[in-house]
Amino acid sequence: MQFSPTLWLIYLSLSSLCVTLAAQVIHKDVAIIGGGAAGVWAATLLEQMGKSFVVVEKEAHFGGHTETYTIPGTNTTLDYGVQGYSPLVNGSYDVIERFFGAYDVPISYIHRTETSGGTPRYFDFRTYQELKNFTYSTDLSKYTTQVDKYPYLNFQVQTPSPIPSDLTLSFGDFVKKYSLQSSVFDIYYQAEGLGDTLSLPAYYVLREMNAAHLLALQPSSPGLLVTTAGDNQEPYIKAQAKFGTDALVGSMVQSVHRNDSGVELTVNTPSGPLTIRTPKLLVTIPPTTSNMEPFDLDSSESNLFSKFAYSGWFVALVNITGLPVNASFQNAGTDTLYNLPQLPAVYQITTTKVSGVYLVRYGSAGYMSTDDVRADIVSSIEKIRAAVTSNAGYLAAPSILAFGNHLPYTLHVTSADLAAGFDNQLWGLQGHRSTWYSGATFTGSSSTDVWNATQAIVASMLAA
Ligand SMILES: Cc1cc2nc3c(=O)[nH]c(=O)nc-3n(C[C@H](O)[C@H](O)[C@H](O)COP(=O)(O)OP(=O)(O)OC[C@H]3O[C@@H](n4cnc5c(N)ncnc54)[C@H](O)[C@@H]3O)c2cc1C
Repeated sequence: MQFSPTLWLIYLSLSSLCVTLAAQVIHKDVAIIGGGAAGVWAATLLEQMGKSFVVVEKEAHFGGHTETYTIPGTNTTLDYGVQGYSPLVNGSYDVIERFFGAYDVPISYIHRTETSGGTPRYFDFRTYQELKNFTYSTDLSKYTTQVDKYPYLNFQVQTPSPIPSDLTLSFGDFVKKYSLQSSVFDIYYQAEGLGDTLSLPAYYVLREMNAAHLLALQPSSPGLLVTTAGDNQEPYIKAQAKFGTDALVGSMVQSVHRNDSGVELTVNTPSGPLTIRTPKLLVTIPPTTSNMEPFDLDSSESNLFSKFAYSGWFVALVNITGLPVNASFQNAGTDTLYNLPQLPAVYQITTTKVSGVYLVRYGSAGYMSTDDVRADIVSSIEKIRAAVTSNAGYLAAPSILAFGNHLPYTLHVTSADLAAGFDNQLWGLQGHRSTWYSGATFTGSSSTDVWNATQAIVASMLAA
């Protein structure tokens, strides 16, 4: 039998399509979603154990909340996301040393008294009125007594059942119950990024400002570990290079089929769609309904994920001329409860090691568009500058050098949901339909706590 030229063409294109499709299916021991602290550490541990993996990351680079800017034409780096690493609640820095050690990144201690972003001046960012002689207490002893009751808040979202009722009080009521009023301003800024802190269940504030965080503030503590070069993104860049084609950056999961024997994912990558077959899926992204939409959720999963609300935390490095030397600017309400700022607004404008470049942090209690935040940052800086200088009209407009959108931050549910056992139900999803979870929604909130809990999650995932 002889094929006509047309049939040959059809045959050839079909067979090349089959070759292409075959080349687009990969098999891995574990597929990891998210290339931030949890995802990259999980992949590093798997690599050390000789397991195969792939990491799917939506951004063009690994790092998540860790972002570093290099001043053009120099080797000077400025971290504008994650800054430094507190120890575990037992005082150990071991997991931090192992994370940075895996990528040969030198780290050093920095005592809390050495962390500075300039001398603070307090302004109400609604009126730009200065709160002269404003002071607040930094005595956290009464707060520490409360936090010490809940050592598990550093590890993972498993709580005693029922959850202690104090943790389900709004933080505002918790403050009143334990007479913590004088410490609220300090706690608010130590746990910056939570949004409407007083309305949140106390549980979330105590998880953020937990015993390990308090430990690093002690005068006797070595403090935080930081990268010696001031480049927190270095291990992530090195991990991405080391993982090669197993680092699927700029990629989004399109669809997923999961059951008890394994998972098949279709991922849109810059070089086309890819099918990943794996017995185990590790999800480290914030499990909001929109993030989890492609994951073929069953009703138990979607019931839990749909309860989450979140805050917004945004950061920017901004070139600003004309501000007084070594001054920083912190938002404090002139007439608000405990002088807390009214959000959405700039939290603070602090100096960096580069003269004229400031780190600006901005908060909201929920969603805000990047454009709106950027516009409000620039306008707030102009108003602060007008309040502190006489020649503001002649100065160059502030220019944003780098911007980080950390939305959604601190996923949280209501006090009623917590009281009904939400966190234990969430933790109960581990292993369900071949899927495990890590990341700040499932673990303690600091990077150290995330890395520590991720080790345990990876171990139990491999053992299952
Ligand atoms: C501004 C800021 C400063 C901080 N400073 C400190 C600090 O100094 N010290 C400290 O210990 N902790 C700090 N934290 C907290 C710390 O960053 C978190 O504990 C840690 O980053 C959480 O790691 P993670 O892996 O859960 O999340 P992330 O680091 O956010 O990683 C999640 C990753 O998933 C990716 N992703 C999200 N959605 C998708 C999707 N649909 N598909 C694919 N990928 C997706 C993200 O791009 C990201 O790379 C800070 C957080 C912020 C926001």
